[in-house]
Amino acid sequence: KLSKRLETVASFVPTGAVVADIGSDHAYLPCYLVHNGVVTKAIAGEVVKGPFDSALKQVKLEGLEDNITVRLADGLKAIEESDNVDTITIAGMGGPLIVSILEKNPHALKTVTRLILQPNIHAKVIRQWAIRNQWAVLEEVILKEDEKIYEVLVLQRGEMELTEQEILLGKHLIASKTDVFIEKWSKEIDNWKRILTSIERADDTTDIVKKREEVTHKIQLVEEVLNHEE
Ligand code: SAM
Repeated sequence: KLSKRLETVASFVPTGAVVADIGSDHAYLPCYLVHNGVVTKAIAGEVVKGPFDSALKQVKLEGLEDNITVRLADGLKAIEESDNVDTITIAGMGGPLIVSILEKNPHALKTVTRLILQPNIHAKVIRQWAIRNQWAVLEEVILKEDEKIYEVLVLQRGEMELTEQEILLGKHLIASKTDVFIEKWSKEIDNWKRILTSIERADDTTDIVKKREEVTHKIQLVEEVLNHEE
């Protein structure tokens, strides 16, 4: 059975899509998509030999060699032009690594109309990348599984404007303001407050002053959202 996290990613793959799952590890996601009749053709990309072998093994075990092509490649290099990939999933990595994968081979995105990204941390940099590259957030989900909190961002082509708060927290996630969202950001605030306390007595060097301002600003941004009554 697929994790709730990957099931959420899968739920945003359009029926009949040609999907490339980058950093696929065991290829659980593409296997699930084929088994559930969502797609008939998928690429599983892996840059590390161990996980690449696991993906091959899994695809073979499930008898899906005709549907899923496993490639050992760095990021979007796993995608070939003739694949006509229209949907890319990248899950289980930090936001900065996801962004670096997208930035390294941007031409591979030519045929792509949807990106489903699941950053474990720092979703903010994905929203910033999206704005810079004319992608817009279609949907965002925050979920908790095994005491960990994850975000899933669904992007399609288009312009978007986000406020500083929306870049940090997610426009859709602010709007729905679920318990998991509140939990995540309350914890972040606690962390930032601890940081402030720990640098309270530090000398007023430029760096320390800057850090204090930065952290105080983030606390304010997030508290504003959390304390806002509908
Ligand atoms: N996507 C799966 C999931 O969400 O459960 C696996 C996540 S696993 C934590 C991250 C995987 O991404 C690892 O198998 C790693 O080898 C792979 N990876 C990291 N950087 C990559 C890159 N540049 N290109 C392809 N795969 C990469």
